[in-house]
Amino acid sequence: MLLDTRAMRHLSAEDWKVLQAAEQGSKNHEVVPTPLIERLSRLKGGASGVHKSISTLAKAGLLARMKEMKYDGYRLTYGGLDYLALHTHSQKRQVYSVGTRVGVGKESDIMIVADETGTQKILKIHRLGRISFRTVKTNRDYLKKNQACGSWMYLSRLAAMKEFAFMQALRDEGFPVPEPIAHSRHTIVMSLIDASPLRQISAVPDPAGLYADLIGLILRLAKHGLIHGDFNEFNILILEERAEPTGTTIKGKGKEGDENALDQEEGAITLTPIVIDFPQMVSMEHPNAEMYFDRDVQCIKRFFERRFHFLSTTPGPFFKDAKKLMGKDGAKRLDATATASGFTKKMAKDLEAAIRDQAALLESSPIDSEDEDDEDENEEEEGEVGDEGAVPGSEEPEVLHIKGNDFLPEAEEGMA
Ligand code: ADP
Ligand code: MG
Repeated sequence: MLLDTRAMRHLSAEDWKVLQAAEQGSKNHEVVPTPLIERLSRLKGGASGVHKSISTLAKAGLLARMKEMKYDGYRLTYGGLDYLALHTHSQKRQVYSVGTRVGVGKESDIMIVADETGTQKILKIHRLGRISFRTVKTNRDYLKKNQACGSWMYLSRLAAMKEFAFMQALRDEGFPVPEPIAHSRHTIVMSLIDASPLRQISAVPDPAGLYADLIGLILRLAKHGLIHGDFNEFNILILEERAEPTGTTIKGKGKEGDENALDQEEGAITLTPIVIDFPQMVSMEHPNAEMYFDRDVQCIKRFFERRFHFLSTTPGPFFKDAKKLMGKDGAKRLDATATASGFTKKMAKDLEAAIRDQAALLESSPIDSEDEDDEDENEEEEGEVGDEGAVPGSEEPEVLHIKGNDFLPEAEEGMA
């Protein structure tokens, strides 16, 4: 799972064709037999050209030779899938260069990318199974059990597909979410939100107001038949906008020591929450809907109490009341969004199970739970943007290593 774009510009049109052929072959074969790659790539030069490309691709780590198999074959690696997705985004002129990694989520890598005009965007690469990858170091049985199913790629594709569909549907209904720009395989391109996750905000002028906004969002989702399912301080970005100076000074109500910073500048600050991260969205009619709903609400309550020492005087909101809101005021039901975008029942089930397993794995792993349950008051002092969701020890080379500002080839180059 190395996203190293260096080899990208060296790949020829033939190499891309062969990589695409390997991808096509993996739909029905865990290990794609070499003759099938030859057939699917339809290169004029025939087998020798294909073999040359295979060797180039294998050297770059985009294809992996499976030696112990009864037949000679290759497997598309995560790197190979990354390249194919980037190639597509590049051909569609959505991505021209790949910059730094801004976040390592539990199940994704978040990169800043730019198009030819220099407009920055976010590339989210889904990595369902990352945790399993990490666990395998100490658990060979787990590796054996899961290696065979090759399902990590399939699940990551599902996650991206579902997330893109929901981002689109929510955006269309006017929800504060990033603009979905493009989708390819296990990746999404979306607008860059120039804001920090709530997790990194140490004080706000009006905690009650922000709390009400967030609860309002939970209820607005419910109205459309949806529960976010992971509505926490990592998945809410806080846009800060300062109005024109009015001459009045804003008094900070945050923690001690923060007042000064807030007092120095003039003009009211408005905080707008932007919601991200949708692969785990569930319907209000899901069998466990109440649990998911309550969990989202509790997440916000707990965070506001801990961080801002704010406790709402109003109990709830409660699931049974939220349920009454469904479809109210002509709110369009969005819970069939994934199905509408081609998601089958099986896909939904597979993805849900995988997300549940991942969460369980995270909880059961001692290092991870340490990170997750860190209640230390000083926690907000450290950390860079987006790294809080990081898997501990993510500096380890097998996770992700991006060469900053590596350029993708011109969109026309190396096209199949
Ligand atoms: P995961 O599913 O792995 O949790 P997220 O979609 O929540 O991934 O993204 C992880 C982090 O990346 C976020 O907490 C945020 O810091 C950053 N991020 C994600 N999307 C954007 C975006 N559109 N604009 C700016 N930052 C983003
Ligand atoms: Mg997240």
